Amino acid sequence: MDDRDGVIWFDGEMVNWRDAKTHVLTHTLHYGMGVFEGVRAYEAEQGTSIFRLEAHTKRLFNSAKIMNMPMPFTPEQINEAQRAAVRENGLKSAYIRPMVFYGSEGMGLRADNLKAHIVVAAWEWGAYMGEENLKRGIKIATSSFTRHHPNITMTKAKSNGSYMNSMLALQEAISHGCDEALLLDTQGYVSEGSGENFFMVRDGVIYTPELTSALDGITRNTIIRLAHEAGYEVREKCITRDEVYIADEAFFTGTAAEVTPIRELDNRKIGSGSRGPITEILQAKYFDVVHGRSAEHLGWLTTVA
Ligand code: PMP
Repeated sequence: MDDRDGVIWFDGEMVNWRDAKTHVLTHTLHYGMGVFEGVRAYEAEQGTSIFRLEAHTKRLFNSAKIMNMPMPFTPEQINEAQRAAVRENGLKSAYIRPMVFYGSEGMGLRADNLKAHIVVAAWEWGAYMGEENLKRGIKIATSSFTRHHPNITMTKAKSNGSYMNSMLALQEAISHGCDEALLLDTQGYVSEGSGENFFMVRDGVIYTPELTSALDGITRNTIIRLAHEAGYEVREKCITRDEVYIADEAFFTGTAAEVTPIRELDNRKIGSGSRGPITEILQAKYFDVVHGRSAEHLGWLTTVA
């Protein structure tokens, strides 16, 4: 990732991609205290546009607030940095990664002179789990790793350190021949994937876990809005793994994963064992909205030009 042409926004300036470096004593590298976002820009009807830019920037600032990290820039500056990162790299569509980290001003947990630094990188990134899986659906397994508890890492923040848990769960799932993990919370109820929110459909009603341990996903919020507009009932409730086994449909949502159908959990086929009809409708609506093909939600798109 580091050896390529292009530019990265780094503390207010565009620097060459290869020069966007930090010292090995970077505090966040040692202790994981940092916050970040994952944002996408799409080639939309009105030109390349960032989807729900303000919601992502708001969550980044909220994450920093939760972690008590002082933000050296305003939300407007970070919005502009994201637009510039896409534009100045000449990208038609992009994955955008803003990240806030502590520098090498001090070492040790007690360092009290730390400064928050912000980078915004953007690059091309296609379907997170492959184009084919958007149609066919993925095979997942309940993880042996429990999702975070609010009093352990705080689950409303998208923080660097919390992704250790995601990586452990994902690596385990992949080693068992699956595409993704389904993590349960400390009570044993379904929480989320390693980088996605979870939904299931039963008897025409859409269910998703409450947000006690899962990240407040922007795609989740988008899908709930689109489902309501399409006349579906969406209920937030505690979901057990065996309810998922007997669901008619299930899918994950996320900026990277978009709307990814789930065809199998723990070697049990979900519904027909392929993308379900309601999943297909919501997925199509999602792709229409992010590409600016739907007149209703043009306000969710910010052009980069
Ligand atoms: N949960 C986790 C753990 C995630 O990493 C993500 C991706 N940011 C999501 C859910 C989905 O969030 P969003 O739709 O905002 O990308």
